[in-house]
Amino acid sequence: MKLPDHGRHDLAPDLEQPDVLVIGGGVAGLFAAYHLRLAGAAVTVVERGPVGGPQSCSSGNTGFVGTQGAAPLAEPGVLTQGLRWLGDKESPFYIKPRLDGGLVRWLWHFSRACNDRDFAAGFAVLLEMKQRSLEILRAVCARGDLAPTLVSDGMVVAFKSPEAFAKACRAVPRAVAGGVPLRILDAAALRALEPDAEFDIRGALFNADGAYLRVPEFIVGFAAELERMGVRICAGTEVTGFQLAGRRIQRVRTTMGECRPGETVIAAGSWSTACARQLDVGLLLQPAKGYAVTVSAPPGAPRLPVLLSEGKVAVVPLGGRLRLGGTLELTGMDPEISQRRVSGMLRTVGAYLPGLGDLTTIDTWSGLRPCSPDSLPFIGRAEPYQNLLIATGHGYIGMGLAPAGGRLVAQIAAGEKPDLDPAPFAVGRFSGRARRQAGRRNLPGPRQPAAAGPAWIAPSGHGGSAGR
Ligand SMILES: Cc1cc2nc3c(=O)[nH]c(=O)nc-3n(C[C@H](O)[C@H](O)[C@H](O)COP(=O)(O)OP(=O)(O)OC[C@H]3O[C@@H](n4cnc5c(N)ncnc54)[C@H](O)[C@@H]3O)c2cc1C
Repeated sequence: MKLPDHGRHDLAPDLEQPDVLVIGGGVAGLFAAYHLRLAGAAVTVVERGPVGGPQSCSSGNTGFVGTQGAAPLAEPGVLTQGLRWLGDKESPFYIKPRLDGGLVRWLWHFSRACNDRDFAAGFAVLLEMKQRSLEILRAVCARGDLAPTLVSDGMVVAFKSPEAFAKACRAVPRAVAGGVPLRILDAAALRALEPDAEFDIRGALFNADGAYLRVPEFIVGFAAELERMGVRICAGTEVTGFQLAGRRIQRVRTTMGECRPGETVIAAGSWSTACARQLDVGLLLQPAKGYAVTVSAPPGAPRLPVLLSEGKVAVVPLGGRLRLGGTLELTGMDPEISQRRVSGMLRTVGAYLPGLGDLTTIDTWSGLRPCSPDSLPFIGRAEPYQNLLIATGHGYIGMGLAPAGGRLVAQIAAGEKPDLDPAPFAVGRFSGRARRQAGRRNLPGPRQPAAAGPAWIAPSGHGGSAGR
């Protein structure tokens, strides 16, 4: 791409002038880069840490993808349950009491979404996005180095209480009609699937679409694949500021120098709020901390991934190891690990799978999930800018949403008709506050539609069909 002469001298040679700069090398940023590259854009990804490093929420999670887990967090009745958990130091849910206007607004919108209508609408949107994402993942991981990172042998959902199991069984026909291949397991069927594991539960379901990504291997391997496709990935590069010209981002400042992208995508996970705030774009996100405890797999470990439903713990087999994921804590941008809650997770695992005995911990990791109040990500253009896109807020199911979310980013950037309705993901859906702020600070007015789409040329060997 030919650069204009003026101002070129202070552009960082590694970053130059891409069609699109993606901020964040987690799963959301990488899938945005993938689809943008398939569409023919010259793409640079900047990542503050190493790609797949522990700072990223995408690096240490349990990796569940597929049709399980499409229910929004804001569920009718969840507030009562949450209040009950607040006083329990080992419970899977916690809010750190503090004076934080963003948290109060987030909780207010969350509580408003806890009704049957919004729950059903959110579920339908998330399920469709997860189904499309699984198709994309299957194509991306069909062969080569990425093939062993996607395991799709189905998953077990285990229930401890008769009430929860009965409720889940009642929901099975509707789930199946909606495209979730669930079936109720009797004791013999569970034993056939898991002959070595000892369960102390009241019942279980099997989801034939259950699948999981092994992380960080998938993230590291996918980033390498993107580089082979021609995406420039700049690890160890942090975005520190923006320079505006009218309604456009003209320059992006990084710790490695400046660049002049045609479009900028903020996909910085829980850090997106701070990044977007520099542009006076308000994002209603809360970081929701979770832990993943990786242990040596003892004899009797399950062969399939298992969701311990009421305990809110996911169990994933990783060869000689098991990864246990759980807890959701609204404690701000604080990665500190609470040993009490980790003990609570281990106790939950012991209660459902007593045969595992004492577990030997290899590693305990915390990650900050970027959560919106209605559990839907923010994907789309951010007013009032002409060349700013947001791709964040994938919450507790980002591995399962980002593949289709990235395609939506690319379609919006290219001015194409998206294959998912973008309205539920609108960046400004919770308020006109960002726009009012922009008016007060004399920022530019609302964006006009681009006159013509971008002149991107598909890279050779990637004609735009893979993964679609
Ligand atoms: C315990 C746990 C278990 C989970 N299990 C699952 C699961 O089973 N299935 C599932 O679908 N999801 C799961 N999730 C959620 C999933 O991990 C997240 O939704 C997803 O990783 C979010 O991806 P992201 O790319 O938005 O954010 P991240 O992965 O956090 O990536 C954002 C990146 O941006 C970088 N960055 C930030 N600021 C800047 C800057 N200024 N300049 C440059 N780079 C910057 C950060 O370093 C970071 O690497 C789990 C999460 C946790 C914590």
